Amino acid sequence: MSHSQALSATHHHETPSTCHAETFTGNKGLRLEEALIFEQNTPGLTGVDWSDEKVNDTYLGGVRRKTIDLPGLSEPQVIRHYTRLSQKNYSIDAGLYPLGSCTMKHNPRLNEKVARMFSDIHPLQPTSTVQGAFGVIDELARWLKTLTGMPAVAMTPAAGAHGELCGIMTIKAAHEAKSEGHRTIVLVPESAHGTNPATAALCGYSVQSIPANNRGRVDVAALKAALNSNVAAIMLTNPNTCGLFENDIIEIAKAVHEVGAFFYCDGANFNAIVGKVRPGDLGIDCMHINLHKTFSTPHGGGGPGAGPVVLSEALAPFMPLPYVVTTNTGYEIKEHPTTGLNIGRLKGFHGQMGMFTRALSYMMSHGKDGLKQVAEDAVLNANYIQACLKNDMTAAFEPPCMHEALFDDNFLKGTGVTTLDFAKALIDEGYHPMTMYFPLVVSGALLIEPTECESKETLDQFIGALKYLAGQAKQGNTDFFHEAPRHTPRRRLDETKAARQPVLRWRKS
Ligand SMILES: *Cc1c(COP(=O)(O)O)cnc(C)c1O
Repeated sequence: MSHSQALSATHHHETPSTCHAETFTGNKGLRLEEALIFEQNTPGLTGVDWSDEKVNDTYLGGVRRKTIDLPGLSEPQVIRHYTRLSQKNYSIDAGLYPLGSCTMKHNPRLNEKVARMFSDIHPLQPTSTVQGAFGVIDELARWLKTLTGMPAVAMTPAAGAHGELCGIMTIKAAHEAKSEGHRTIVLVPESAHGTNPATAALCGYSVQSIPANNRGRVDVAALKAALNSNVAAIMLTNPNTCGLFENDIIEIAKAVHEVGAFFYCDGANFNAIVGKVRPGDLGIDCMHINLHKTFSTPHGGGGPGAGPVVLSEALAPFMPLPYVVTTNTGYEIKEHPTTGLNIGRLKGFHGQMGMFTRALSYMMSHGKDGLKQVAEDAVLNANYIQACLKNDMTAAFEPPCMHEALFDDNFLKGTGVTTLDFAKALIDEGYHPMTMYFPLVVSGALLIEPTECESKETLDQFIGALKYLAGQAKQGNTDFFHEAPRHTPRRRLDETKAARQPVLRWRKS
């Protein structure tokens, strides 16, 4: 069976016009088709010489397997298979990755070099042999506390969502310690990332949604009306997911504290304000920082990440174990509670060491002034995109924006082209699409975050592509959009079927 036959067997929902009938192999130029490794199986073929050792079955109680059905391939076949797969993965190293809310930025190679210095140690090594690693954790913690203006930080959470869990568990423990466990409500603005209400619900809270005003910010009157002695916390993102600074944040913090609730800030967008604004000065109690968004480090597809949580004086006693402490003789790990207040463990060991070293490397190589410039350039780049497109696409809210430019689908009204079509056409132009249909408060949202890393030349080409596509849409060129993407190995897949009936396992036919 040739590769293309094998592939058509596994992708039957594809339209027949899609491409690979054109060549004998299914390859297109130097872009190669790739069958599943199981479909490339030649039984018995191997790149290794096995010795004929006899296993004594009696030791195994007769449960020895005769075969584990690994596919048979030569070493070059295996290497080519995985190399080709890796090349199918669009990445920040391959091109602009304008996903809003996810902050996909360049990862300096220096970070990788530094991270590898710590790749050989084990978390169960005697602490005297890993003082350097604890030093890195401690130094990173110091930077995070300084940049946020907060007195304490929990380093172990492994992602933003995990940091949210840490923060809300800490808040819950603090309320319970004051015998205020009756507080059952967490307020979450409409534009919030889905992880916010999910976290509150997981911790047993009921979520009450707070509407946005027509400026894309929290409606402060509606928020104040919702505040009462049953509210445990508010979870607010700043800058918010519409790419806007919450101008009333200090007033919000005061109102939240007046009813005895805590202020959780979702700090995933810290990139936009790092070095410029200290969240602690705004009155927050708790904030997770996505190291993998603000301080580089590669991420996507579910990991890896790190989500340290900075905590106020009131919440610090509840932070999770273990954590690094300084003693007269060096660093130690605090593994057991002394006060009985800590929420316990959130992770097996001390946190994501690889992410810690990358983040610290990024911070130290930028320095204080460089980190401030990160925020300034990120905001400048987003505003440049928004300004250049003001006659082509429709900004969801009045400019200026912070680090991401949010457009709605008004510019597509009456054209027969949807946000989805528009994004698919962008793939033909060689770009990973922006975030689409999020935040939910904006119709057909297109959320673009260029970050500080993109050059003016890159931005101009991207803007050129968006102008061209907006022009095609306005001319009513619907076929152009409905056929997109035309230049990808696969075209429009049946996403609903893929989600409802995913084929996750290869089976022998
Ligand atoms: C990315 C993000 C999160 C979740 O962070 P993960 O590291 O993906 O778990 C939460 N809130 C906002 C606003 C985000 O952008």
